[in-house]
Amino acid sequence: MSGQIHLEPRARVPAAVLTGFDVSPAFAGPSRFKALPMPDLTYTDEIARLTAPLYEKVKSVIPPVEWPFHAPYVAAINRLKRERNAVILAHNYQTPEIYNCVADMVGDSLQLARMAVASEADVIVQGGVHFMAETSKLLNPHKTVLIPDSRAGCSLASSITGADVRLLRQRYPGVPVVAYVNTSADVKAEVDICCTSSNAVKVVESLGADTVIFLPDQYLARNVARQTKVRIIGWAGSCEVHERFTASELNEYRAAHPGIEIIAHPECPPDVVDVCDFTGSTAAMIDYVQTRRPKKVLMVTECSMADNVAAETPGVEFVRPCNLCPHMKRITLPKILDALVYMREEIIIDPALALRARRSVQRMIDLR
Ligand code: SF4
Repeated sequence: MSGQIHLEPRARVPAAVLTGFDVSPAFAGPSRFKALPMPDLTYTDEIARLTAPLYEKVKSVIPPVEWPFHAPYVAAINRLKRERNAVILAHNYQTPEIYNCVADMVGDSLQLARMAVASEADVIVQGGVHFMAETSKLLNPHKTVLIPDSRAGCSLASSITGADVRLLRQRYPGVPVVAYVNTSADVKAEVDICCTSSNAVKVVESLGADTVIFLPDQYLARNVARQTKVRIIGWAGSCEVHERFTASELNEYRAAHPGIEIIAHPECPPDVVDVCDFTGSTAAMIDYVQTRRPKKVLMVTECSMADNVAAETPGVEFVRPCNLCPHMKRITLPKILDALVYMREEIIIDPALALRARRSVQRMIDLR
């Protein structure tokens, strides 16, 4: 099956990255919470003993020489989480010391936000980028959501604004609009429904329309268009991590590693997807490795994810072309500790906008 796709040019209106609800320190003002004393961060025998079981989990991906730097932060963060009644949500692309040693919940952005709903924590610290923290806030409006570095953006989320969506609606009256969850609350408030990389085709077809506007990832849009008869109007956004992979690079890896299984995220260009053995969301890729246990695998996605899966699947050899997401890497243990000590930087979303954005996310959840 092969659908049609038309790509709308970007920058129909000037791109404004985080419109209307900027939480950068300059705008956020002082925290409304009382700061706690900054813990002593000396690496002592006691810290080594306390954190030894956690180091066991990551010793295959973190050299021993690095652990004395991480361990005092790990111990302090895990203690402060209890004091603040906080949970840490870590996206699959977070570094192993965050993902394995301080996170309470791990997964993709929507999994995390939904898991947080079931938690009785008062505070959510988002190990991930800004749109993920917003999604957590949308689904947990009565909890305090902190992002350790509000500059942690995303090339997909920043490619489009709510104003762009309104212009598209004027240009294509009556055509329903689907937004990938990798968008700001400002955009989610303007669309009919959200989708993830795992349910995108199902969401598009659920609308019962012969044409659908699908935002903002042009490659996910192309990959969806190949699986449906619905005509797709896309947007020229892309993930700066996944678009860097090339089919020829992967063919070289396959030639150099006979028998390797290559699995990709659908944010990759279609010609990359074509040379892979499997394509799926981050959660589906992890499930593939954990259930099939290939001898050797290459995960065509952000670099840290292979480290995190490797720590959990001894016996599987990972070949790692390392494309890092610079935005995800803004989140570090020292910044997570700062967030818990000073209770900053809090995600605040205008309630009227949040109501409309939450409706788009909820409509997708209700479809499952
Ligand atoms: S990996 Fe890509 S989609 Fe994910 S946060 Fe980074 S830029 Fe955005």
